[in-house]
This record gives sequence, structure tokens and C-alpha cells, in this order.
Amino acid sequence: MSEDNWDVVVIGGGGAGLAAAVSAAEQGASVLLFESQTELGGSTQLSAGLFTAAGTSVQRGLGIEDTAEKFFQHYMDLNHWILKPGLVRAFCENAGPTLEWLIGLGVEIPARESANAHMPGLCQAGVEDVWRGHVPKDQGYGLVQVLDKARRERGVEVVMNTRVQALVVEDGSVVGVVADDIEVRASAVVIASGGFAQNKDLVDRLYPFANRGGDSLFVVAAPGSQGDHLKFGEQVGAAVTGEGWGLMLPTAYFQRYHHWQSGFPPKSRIYVNGDGRRFMDEDASYAVSTGIIDAQEGGAWVVFDEKARLNLPAGYADWAPERILEEVDSGRTLRADSLAELAGVMDVPAGALEAAVARWNEQLPNGADDDFLRHRTLANKGSTANPDPIDEGPFYAARLLPAELVCTHAGVEIDSNAAVLDQTGRPVDGLFAAGEAGAGILGLRYVGGGNAVANALTMGRIAGLSAARTARGESTATSAAMTTAGI
Ligand SMILES: Cc1cc2nc3c(=O)[nH]c(=O)nc-3n(C[C@H](O)[C@H](O)[C@H](O)COP(=O)(O)OP(=O)(O)OC[C@H]3O[C@@H](n4cnc5c(N)ncnc54)[C@H](O)[C@@H]3O)c2cc1C
Repeated sequence: MSEDNWDVVVIGGGGAGLAAAVSAAEQGASVLLFESQTELGGSTQLSAGLFTAAGTSVQRGLGIEDTAEKFFQHYMDLNHWILKPGLVRAFCENAGPTLEWLIGLGVEIPARESANAHMPGLCQAGVEDVWRGHVPKDQGYGLVQVLDKARRERGVEVVMNTRVQALVVEDGSVVGVVADDIEVRASAVVIASGGFAQNKDLVDRLYPFANRGGDSLFVVAAPGSQGDHLKFGEQVGAAVTGEGWGLMLPTAYFQRYHHWQSGFPPKSRIYVNGDGRRFMDEDASYAVSTGIIDAQEGGAWVVFDEKARLNLPAGYADWAPERILEEVDSGRTLRADSLAELAGVMDVPAGALEAAVARWNEQLPNGADDDFLRHRTLANKGSTANPDPIDEGPFYAARLLPAELVCTHAGVEIDSNAAVLDQTGRPVDGLFAAGEAGAGILGLRYVGGGNAVANALTMGRIAGLSAARTARGESTATSAAMTTAGI
């Protein structure tokens, strides 16, 4: 090895890139990682670190029996079987072993029930029948710290503040990258540059659904999410998949900050549609909630009363009582002394709104929501006190829409070795991808909290192993996915 001839170069130092770098180095590869920003971590560092996996020691510690097979079935069903089963299968097989690998590196996930994405332990990730949401201590920041320590211990070099400009391609093979106008040669390259949520042109082209957020759209992905993977993919004629998919969280139109309850309203509020009717469990996982909201003709509203405005639970900065009054004064949040009047300004049938609120008042404030089963999701979140009835005027209505853009799913298509495929479906020699950059696993439906971090770290780990094997001159016909899963 010489300094300008590395075994593996990794583009991007978020979750996928760090996992790839550590796993390649574990194979004895010399690894150089480029990060465009002044610190490592990307969106992974901003995340709750929630990690979906099946058959783990954490689940076993809680007496939960689970298998990759069940995870796979659930994943495919939720995605209408439009993803490639072999690739998803490899992911589901490897998510559990990757979680154990992380625990071995120092990530702490206690075997205890967790009520939310900020309490270390095991929580309900989405709409799975057994809980698969693994919440690590110190969240995404904790994951990045552990991986960064592991990469330092394994001698992975990092070049910060340096955005890789292009791949070096010779005779159809990837043989390095260009950064700071300097060519750096490598036997294999891993693209782990994240998604494109911060690149408006790419969002318009590949995830226009995000624009349903209109003026309320806010992007929480890390600033480095510029979509460079698509530019690199173009250089080698890579296939692109996952167009039109990503994760938008439902929010009240005035929300601007990501917080740990993102995607859910504070208690004692209900959602109604353009017919003035309640239509969903307001605490439903965003595995399904955005789709349900988007399916409502005439949009959706959050309805609440004066008591709810004033008695705000902790952690909902955007919903502060005085903020709501500012929104009312601006005319954007609606207010009326009676539900019938409120229905009038919302332009929904008054009888339906009154019936929806009456039905709510007789149900969940008394402990059960027979219509939408919200009592079950609230209980899973450790919520013990019943929500209040909506019965104290004035009453309020605010537009609800998917407006928080978290991550994007369109990227260069990969196979189960994390090898990038060209438009004929063949692997591109010397090129691997993972995380939001490497597409095919994050699908039509986000399978619940933990889907994207699990994808980034699991496929990053596989990409690193595959890249190290390529550097050793081994064929990728030996499945890296099967090796990491211990199969
Ligand atoms: C606020 C928030 C909360 C979230 N919570 C969760 C959660 O709890 N669970 C979950 O599963 N998912 C969550 N997600 C989504 C998840 O965090 C991401 O999808 C996942 O971490 C992406 O990992 P990645 O490695 O692909 O990208 P990133 O972690 O974004 O890393 C990509 C890195 O590449 C760098 N880069 C980009 N271009 C270049 C270039 N040309 N050269 C060099 N470097 C480059 C970027 O700066 C960045 O550091 C959350 C996302 C956000 C924003």
C-alpha cells in the first residue's frame, strides 16, 4: 500500500460510511474516509439512533421470540412486495447481527421496555407484531461516537471538510476518487454520502411528494445530504431506484423543529378530515400515518380545545400556548367559541365535527378508543393518564400535513453485497454503496422508527466487508451478507 493507493476509500462519514470503514478495516484493509462537513455523523448523528432488528439479544433479554424470517415477511408485506425480496432478506438477516456487532463495539442498549425513541431499550418501532425498535444510549450521537472510536482504533484515516467531487473510472472499473482536485486511488470505493433532502432540485425531481408540505415544509436531514451519490452513479451508468419514496412526518403546519415526539400530536387532540370526521389513531406510527393522512380528500386538521392549548405536555416547543395565539392572530390557526362555529370556518359539516368530538369524549377520556385503538399505542408509549375530553371553548383547528422531511430513499441500486448495479443489473467493478445513497431497501413504506439507521449501519457494514474482499482480489460471488449474518 502507498498513501495514494488505498484498499478502500469511503465517501461520507455518517452511519453507513463509518460502519463500512470499520468493517473494511476489521478485514485488514487500509481505509481512507472523506467527510464533506467539519464533523462526522451526518443525519445519523442527528437521529434518535433507533435501530430496527429481529432476533437480538435485547429482545431475548425481554423474553421476546423473534426471527429475521418474521421481520422479512412484515417488511415485504408493508412494502406491497415491490422491493427485491433477496435484497430485503439479506438486510433482515443482517440487521440483528449488525446490532450485536455494535453492542460488541460498545453501543449500550439495555434489555428493558422503552416508551419512546429517547429512552434506551426496546420500543415499538412501527406496526410490527413484536417490538423491534432498539434505542441506544445517547441516541444517534452515541452510535457515531462508538463507531468513530472503533475506526480510530483500527487505523482508519479521515479527511474532514473535503467533499469528494467525482469517482475515478477506468475501463468501467472504479479505481478511486477525486477530492480537492487530487486523484486518490483505491481498489474499492464505498459511496456513503447520505440522501438528497437538502438539495431542492433533486427533491423536486426524485421526491416531489415532499412539496405537499408547501410553505410548511422543513428539512431536518443533515446539511451534507446533497445527493452526490446520484452524480457518482451517473459516472458509471448506475441504476437508480426508490424514486418517489422517502420519509415525511405528519406535523401541524406551524411546526418547524424536530423533537422526539415528531410525527405525533400532543395528547387531547384529534385529527379530522375534510368531512369533519375523525379518521385515524393520532398516535399511529409513521410507518402508516403519512399514508393515511395523504389519503384524506380535503386534507386533515388537528382539533383541540382551550384546556389542551394551556395544558401542554413537555417537549412540544412548537405547540406553546402563546405560539398558538400568535397563529390565531395571524389567521392561520382557526378559533371559534363553539364546535359548530369552528366547523363553519373549517368548511366541514358541523354535525360531523360535533359527532366526532362527542364520540371522542365518550371514548378515550374513559380509557378506550374502540374506533381507532389509540389507547393501545398510547399504552405502548407508557402513557398512563387518559387524554382529556374536548369540551372547553374556545375550540381550535390547525391544518395537519406531511411537512417534515427526514430522509430520502432514491439512490443507486445495490445488491445484497452492497455492490452498485448498472442499468443492465450487473455489479459495477469496485463500487459499493450503503445508507440513503445505496437504494433498494428503504421502500414505499418506512417500516417504522429505526428503518433507516438499521439500513445505513447494516448495509454499511456489508459494503465494507465486500470492498475489503474486492481489495484482496476475492470474488463478490461469495456473499458478504451471508458472512456477516454468520450463515
Ligand atoms: C432528525 C433525524 C432523526 C432521525 N431519526 C432516525 C431514527 O431514530 N432511526 C432511523 O432509523 N432513522 C432516523 N433518521 C434517518 C436516519 O438517521 C438516516 O436515514 C441515516 O442515518 C442515514 O445514514 P447515512 O450514512 O446514509 O447518511 P448520513 O448519516 O447523512 O451520512 C452521510 C455523510 O456523507 C457526507 N457527505 C455527503 N456528500 C459527501 C461527499 N461528496 N464527500 C464526502 N462526504 C460527503 C455527509 O456530510 C454526511 O456526513 C433520522 C433522521 C433525522 C434527520
